[in-house]
Amino acid sequence: MAYRITPNLMFPVGNFKNISSGFGEMNVYDKQLWGKHLGIDISAPAETKVFSIGRGTVVYSKLHPGEFSEDGETIIKRNWGGITIIAHKDPKTKKVFYSVYGHLGKRYVKKGDTIEMGGLIGIIGKSLSESNGAWEEEHLHFGIYDGPFHARVLPGYFKEQSDKENTTELEYWKEPVSFIKNYNPKNTQI
Ligand SMILES: [Zn+2]
Repeated sequence: MAYRITPNLMFPVGNFKNISSGFGEMNVYDKQLWGKHLGIDISAPAETKVFSIGRGTVVYSKLHPGEFSEDGETIIKRNWGGITIIAHKDPKTKKVFYSVYGHLGKRYVKKGDTIEMGGLIGIIGKSLSESNGAWEEEHLHFGIYDGPFHARVLPGYFKEQSDKENTTELEYWKEPVSFIKNYNPKNTQI
């Protein structure tokens, strides 16, 4: 896979101030400890547009549906819903890193697509739908990862006991807001 140089980065949704769960928070859902959060959750209503943070190549885009009981009343499994992962390359460090967008109600890109900064990736999924992964809150999960990528979905939480593929190593996950802010020194044009 040829990686595309990514000169600049932007934020994936317009309003970036409503962070409902921060990076590294220990979260409990369904009375279970899920572990450390490997990204941030940005609250935004369903159908809010989600944009690529930078030029790159889509390396993963699939639906991992949430599951409900037959009567639709009970959540059986929470999941990613629609998830898309884009590979980028830092022109200064030559390092490849990935942006992760979870709980998308619709995905407008597929694996292998190239995309520019600000390109439309999808929209945020509706509350308690398969496509948002059966979560109550409408939000984008957004992460930045610079570890090895095995062409599989990446995790949203650090769970030590299930760390089979080395993708949840905490050192590979970056706090997304400061990562984007630090990426763009003023007047950088390539
Ligand atoms: Zn999240």
